[in-house]
Amino acid sequence: MAQLTDDCFAFSGPLLPVADMERMIAERVTPVAETEEVALAAARGRVLARAVIAPLDLPPFDNSAVDGYAVRHADLAAETETKLAITGRLTAGSAPTAPIAPGQAIRIFTGAPMPSGADTVFMQEDTRVEGDAVIVPTGLKPGANRRLAGEDVRKDATVLPEGRRLAAQDVALAAAVGLTRLTVRRRVRVALFSTGDEIVEPGTPRPDAALYDANRYLLSGMLERLGAQTSDLGIIKDDPAALAAAIAAAAQGHDLVLTSGGVSTGEADHVRDAVEAIGKLWFWRVAIKPGRPVAMGVIPGSGSGAAFVGLPGNPVAAFVTFARVVRPLLLRLGGAQAEPLTALPVRLAFDYRKKSGRREYVRVALRRAADGAIEAVRHPQEGAGVITSLTETDGLAELHEDSTAIKQGATVGFLSYATLMG
Ligand code: AMP
Ligand code: MG
Repeated sequence: MAQLTDDCFAFSGPLLPVADMERMIAERVTPVAETEEVALAAARGRVLARAVIAPLDLPPFDNSAVDGYAVRHADLAAETETKLAITGRLTAGSAPTAPIAPGQAIRIFTGAPMPSGADTVFMQEDTRVEGDAVIVPTGLKPGANRRLAGEDVRKDATVLPEGRRLAAQDVALAAAVGLTRLTVRRRVRVALFSTGDEIVEPGTPRPDAALYDANRYLLSGMLERLGAQTSDLGIIKDDPAALAAAIAAAAQGHDLVLTSGGVSTGEADHVRDAVEAIGKLWFWRVAIKPGRPVAMGVIPGSGSGAAFVGLPGNPVAAFVTFARVVRPLLLRLGGAQAEPLTALPVRLAFDYRKKSGRREYVRVALRRAADGAIEAVRHPQEGAGVITSLTETDGLAELHEDSTAIKQGATVGFLSYATLMG
């Protein structure tokens, strides 16, 4: 008797493990070569093509970390308070005029340069002022509350490596060492399509049995977060010739052609054939759920050709495969260092059964359990087409290939949506 199954992953044929897919990207994909200079204000999110070397020490001069009194530690009595004459005042930005002499203190404020001869600063809260003198307590270590020149960054040190995807704090560091422009790789150019006879653009009439296109909005948003320059090329019908023509044309002038829908094994799924007709398919099934049918290959284009990725049409599957397949590919194309996704441990609030040999991602919301621990609660709807399962959860629980029965209370990896998209 034939065995019927409701498991849409029960097809035979090889499933590429996630680790092999990642290795394939690292081995076969070369980064875009062109570089450009950008002003700091435009640098966030760009990938450094050249390491940043500090042209100066940071801080550039010794300075006070607090508001208080700068003193010579050698003047301080070991057992009793010390009374010192206040002989000057230094605010941030004012250069010291005279060195400090024995028995003297200088009123100083945070960020002001240390007067020469002074090595220690008392916080004003710890002192008493009597007329023109300040009385300081015992017990402060030499060098306290002083920031040394170069303690943050040494002149000529490499402070940001080539391949760094610049975060706001990276740009701040470049600014702090006085740079104004950075050399970055050009942005990765991505051509984006949706496919499907049933898919129509929001704002246009929706025939019965048609769906508004969600994926182009999902994917263009994720592409933007990863710094790509996206050409939105609309919706293509489930027509082999139209698909082949559109993908071939898009491969000119783009580094990556990204589609969703039409990569499964149904009779209206023509993306795989189209890619095989005009280019080379590397794989079309990855051992991921949701999202198993995901195709990657290369299409002849300018230079070494354009990479191709065909994501599954169900929005949740498209989301998961974007995060696991397109994200590392885009980082590689853009010349960024690999940024492995770090899953944080959370406690599972449900039992889960899965097949071994594939990695599964479960949409979960986080909540604080009675004992204070963070636990992951599964969304009630599992379907790969349920978009609210993405909007009503916080991220994905990652269940590894070799696990099969995961018990409530087990610790699993959690990938927040912010991490997956960043
Ligand atoms: P496919 O991968 O083409 O078999 O599509 C799988 C499911 O995802 C079908 O129910 C499609 O209608 C749906 N789907 C495909 N593309 C989109 C899209 N761009 N936006 C929303 N749903 C889609
Ligand atoms: Mg389809």
